[in-house]
Amino acid sequence: FPTFDPAKRPEVAQNQWADMYADVVFPSPLEQSFTYLVPEGMAGDIQVGQRVLVPFGRRRLTGFVVGLKEETDVEKVRPIEDILETEPSFTPEILELARWMSEYYLCSWGEALRACLPAGLLSQTRLVLEPTEKATKEAVAELQKRSPLQAKVLAKVLGGGVRTVGMLTRRLGRQGIHQAVWALAKKGFLKVDVQLAVGKARPRTERTVKLHPSLRKGGQVYEIIRQIEKRAPKQAEILSILAEHKEPLAVRTLLEYAKAAPATLKGLHRKRWVVLSRRAVSRDPYSKLEIVPPPEFELTDEQKSVLAEINGAIEREEYATFLLHGVTGSGKTQVYIEALKEVLARGKTAIVLVPEIALTPQMVQRFRSHFGNDIAVLHSRLSTGERFDAWRTLREGRKRIALGPRSAVLAPLQNLGLIVVDEEHEASYKQEDAAPRYHARDVAIMRAQAAGAVVVLGSATPSVESYYNAQNGKFRLLELTRRIDDVPMPHVELVNMTREPRPGRKMPVFSRLLKEKIEEKLQRGEQVILLQNRRGYAPTLICADCGYVEMCKNCHISLTYHIAGHRLRCHYCGYSKTAPEVCPKCGSPNLTYKGRGTQRVEEELRTLFPHARVVRMDLDTTVRKWSHDRILGAFARREYDILLGTQMVAKGLDFPSVTLVGVITADLGLYFPDFRAAERTFQLLTQVAGRAGRKDRQGEVVIQTFSPTNFALICASQHDFHSFFDWEIRQRRELSYPPYGRLIAIEIRGLDVDAVRKMAVDLGRRLRAKARRFAILGPSPAPLSRVRRMYRWHLLTRQARRVEPSGAEMRQVVREVVQEILPEARKQRVKVTVDVDPVNLL
Ligand code: ADP
Ligand code: ZN
Ligand code: ZN
Repeated sequence: FPTFDPAKRPEVAQNQWADMYADVVFPSPLEQSFTYLVPEGMAGDIQVGQRVLVPFGRRRLTGFVVGLKEETDVEKVRPIEDILETEPSFTPEILELARWMSEYYLCSWGEALRACLPAGLLSQTRLVLEPTEKATKEAVAELQKRSPLQAKVLAKVLGGGVRTVGMLTRRLGRQGIHQAVWALAKKGFLKVDVQLAVGKARPRTERTVKLHPSLRKGGQVYEIIRQIEKRAPKQAEILSILAEHKEPLAVRTLLEYAKAAPATLKGLHRKRWVVLSRRAVSRDPYSKLEIVPPPEFELTDEQKSVLAEINGAIEREEYATFLLHGVTGSGKTQVYIEALKEVLARGKTAIVLVPEIALTPQMVQRFRSHFGNDIAVLHSRLSTGERFDAWRTLREGRKRIALGPRSAVLAPLQNLGLIVVDEEHEASYKQEDAAPRYHARDVAIMRAQAAGAVVVLGSATPSVESYYNAQNGKFRLLELTRRIDDVPMPHVELVNMTREPRPGRKMPVFSRLLKEKIEEKLQRGEQVILLQNRRGYAPTLICADCGYVEMCKNCHISLTYHIAGHRLRCHYCGYSKTAPEVCPKCGSPNLTYKGRGTQRVEEELRTLFPHARVVRMDLDTTVRKWSHDRILGAFARREYDILLGTQMVAKGLDFPSVTLVGVITADLGLYFPDFRAAERTFQLLTQVAGRAGRKDRQGEVVIQTFSPTNFALICASQHDFHSFFDWEIRQRRELSYPPYGRLIAIEIRGLDVDAVRKMAVDLGRRLRAKARRFAILGPSPAPLSRVRRMYRWHLLTRQARRVEPSGAEMRQVVREVVQEILPEARKQRVKVTVDVDPVNLL
């Protein structure tokens, strides 16, 4: 990849007299590929899979070479301007995988390929030149006779100062520079290296911001917020966030969290309300982790027999997918580790996918203790440079295991032997915000099929789809039924909250039982985890007299009350305002909070157990970089007694002294208009319950609910996956939902509600005209009918598998129809997005 090797000539370049053309695709929704001429000077260097710079209309774009050919019907072909790398970014295997992704997930090939690159590689690379020993003054003079431009280029580089192709282009003009550079490289005068234009050379600092100290005095900041929030709501929001954080925040994370633009911050800075500064970037702590020797133990009999199956398949070097169903703490991770050893011993490479939230320093340490520096850890908090480095070590084969979240499935490894997908049921494996909207588990299976590799899907609560596949023989089911050291499963109690006494007619946050249990654990010096899967103080501020509810002005959603700064916030768009003192509609002062978020639970905890050390973990307390790891680390070191939070607390670490898990409101996700609502609730409760109890201590779990007869809750309380599955799969069959059918969700959104509705109706009509063997549900307003000022409608198409197992027909029709209406949608400023196998239906 880095340096140019003239010995490497692609075979297609053998015929020197024929013209050569390249098929190029772009990282944009454009579906077709475009033909470009390969100029003579480049013919020896061009390869399929390379990134190239080409003219496109009046612009120059980075494109990907997906094919080379000697003939074309296209009349006016323009030449490629530059080859951006010597070794192709994309291996043939990745090119093919991306092509499949583009077909299956209904996006362009270029979009799928972009997802296979580390962020930043597209826009931020440059070609760096270095003269070799052969490059002398004499050589320049010699070149002068036959190729004056090459002589000029070489002279400039030799003269020092000029180090990149970009600089040469500026000094000498564009014509033929790249060709001259490649020619010089081929003659051995120059070495060409691809480097990231940002990040590496610069000192590693980041911009930070904090509230001006003078504003803290006497709560002045809240006075200012009230004054400016009508005119400048985003500025007010940023001040309110800064008011909650004593230490400086990274500018980037702050703007992301507040969903604000840099200009907002500049405005605040001009008024001297905030202090900007720089600090050294907190280095990626994972890369510094010491490599400690792993603990030694013998595998249990269950682990051994499971591993034998997996290793058998690895030995045969043929594709197979295993579903490893093992209760929490049954030693699944150890099985992955042993299988990885087998794969490496055979000279192959591997990918380990884990949900981002579970990718903690402890988890990384565990893998590194076995595989040392053979592991590249990929995660979203890496800087552009670190990400590029990690990607490159894998591409060059210097590291053989990629460990990371979703996108690691696209890691540029060759000779792949194994892909592990831990917690395979996790929704975060589905990409939703941008094309390709892929599911990493399903991509893993496709990739392994093509590579003849083995897939291990692991979970304590497998997805209904995967378990169904295992029952039908598509996957091979492996089970770990017992926890390591025979630690008993925790004892779970469901508490019917409708039967709890209500002092002052108010529903208590804690049932009598949960309160009692917490007290008991605190007295014994044991730790407690509490789950409330909703952040903020209360999700609704409602007028007790007229029923008025404060809604977001950009979204169709009620504003969540946050106690710090007495603010109302929208969890979708970041809009916020100071909470009113009286009802804006009727003037009544009887505003009450409905529902409870983590902040309210925290407040209640502090009242009930004033001596307990409580730490809260939700999106609001993890704005700072690494704060998630810091909180978990501190809790593991027993600096806190109670860890309270959203679903973030359900995974990540093993805490040996947690003996009680409490779920404040188990019903929160149960009534979402989504066919997976019950499944998600079952999974979340089972996962969080699994945190309780370790060796010699049986854990206890208290689940508070208003729906004590709900089947998902009952199954979760009895650790009964199989009954839950049997019940759930019946519902799915009746309605032809996955796994019995395939779904495609189409979202139509825009600022103009009429345009959106019209487009949705039109889309529905066109689909119905073509749909012979699949159903169309909708169009209708989406459950979240307005987000960030955009109105949203949606449509669902559904095809039963028994009608068409591959779903190809439905995908084809959707692709055609969406392509048909795109021009009109663009004119109407309406966005249409397609999500194949959607995971989120809100
Ligand atoms: P899971 O991934 O199913 O939650 P782990 O593999 O993390 O389970 O195992 C749980 C704990 O038990 C870990 O601390 C691990 O080191 C330990 N462990 C795993 N296998 C064994 C074994 N065979 N003997 C003793 N301890 C084990
Ligand atoms: Zn009112
Ligand atoms: Zn909003």
